[in-house]
Amino acid sequence: MQGTAGPIDRAALERLDREDPLAHLREEFNLPEGVVYLDGNSLGPLPRRTPERLARMLQEEWGRDLIRGWTERGWLELPLALGDKLARIIGAPAGTVVVSDTTSINLFKLLTAALRLCPDRRTIITEACNFPTDVYIAEGLLDLLGGGRRLVRIEADEDPAEAVDDDTAVVMLTHVDYRSGRMHDMARITAAAQHRGALMLWDLAHSAGAVPLDLGGCNVDLAVGCGYKYLNGGPGAPAFLYVAERWQHELNQPLWGWLGHAEPFAFEPRYRPAAGIGRALCSSPPIAAMVALECGLDLMLQADPAELRRKSLALGDHFIALVEQECASAGLILFTPREHARRGSQVCFRHPAARPVMQALIAREVIGDFREPDVLRFGLCPLYLRYTDLWDAVAVLREVLPAREVRP
Ligand SMILES: *Cc1c(COP(=O)(O)O)cnc(C)c1O
Repeated sequence: MQGTAGPIDRAALERLDREDPLAHLREEFNLPEGVVYLDGNSLGPLPRRTPERLARMLQEEWGRDLIRGWTERGWLELPLALGDKLARIIGAPAGTVVVSDTTSINLFKLLTAALRLCPDRRTIITEACNFPTDVYIAEGLLDLLGGGRRLVRIEADEDPAEAVDDDTAVVMLTHVDYRSGRMHDMARITAAAQHRGALMLWDLAHSAGAVPLDLGGCNVDLAVGCGYKYLNGGPGAPAFLYVAERWQHELNQPLWGWLGHAEPFAFEPRYRPAAGIGRALCSSPPIAAMVALECGLDLMLQADPAELRRKSLALGDHFIALVEQECASAGLILFTPREHARRGSQVCFRHPAARPVMQALIAREVIGDFREPDVLRFGLCPLYLRYTDLWDAVAVLREVLPAREVRP
């Protein structure tokens, strides 16, 4: 379908690197010599600009300005200011995104708010294969609320749109599956959920910075996402959440902290939520971590999203073709859809010896990751990956794969 003609050699990949309009962005990252990094979908690498910017924040802002930093250095505005930068990355209008807390906590806030927006409906729909924390947060919330509410877990081969009924309050899906890299059709599923009166909540952990997004155009209700994967914000970076403008005045999230208050510095005795997206906030932002995330967001905003997607898919096509060419008899089974419209920015294979194979790859400085039960996962991040990296990775993969048993 998106196949490449004839066998691929290293020279062809060198040519693609020379012609790559994004090639210069690799220089923006601190990538250790000799490492092929295929795990930016778990922890993005360090942008070169981050240490210097962080040092300035610590020494000049915190060190010199002390408490005045909150107002004079704009620290207090960072959750909304970074939210507006993120909004550009996910195709959402300004004023609909804040950077705060973690993905799990943001999910808790928005899932609770979603159930409150649909008080007559009792079910949350998700996928059995969803990332565990998403499912646990939903289970914990239902345990807290009771009232006959329940979680419906559909299988990966079922159409989420078909599962929605009159009792569905919210459909909670991860847009790009963390294990297989399969991407859902955001526009179609969102429309189907809303057509049956449910709210749509997307987890963008493996989408933001990885695939072009148009939350506004898809009319999405609610979304959460992660700062330390494709956005390169650093380990445990703050996460983000999105609330469509139409829901903001009704949004009742459960963590009524002072920074979500209409007037935090009036120190009023009772909670009154802020008017807009600010009511989704709870507490003081971690400024050093916010500043590090901002470096990652600024870098992402330097790249044209259409170019990023084109390169991400080309990396994926070449990686699949190379593995099939070089490791044909090794028993690897492609787990990621080949079809572009159904693929995120990672390529995964299943193999019975996936765990030791990944350990051997990492020992040889080809860093991907293993996911239960038998998945070799390779993140292909177009900001810094070279086409020749694919060649080098597959050469090592071929060497570390066990010789296949010969069956009669
Ligand atoms: C990575 C990831 C998370 C991370 O959650 P944290 O709260 O940051 O630990 C959540 N959901 C999905 C789908 C993820 O891929």
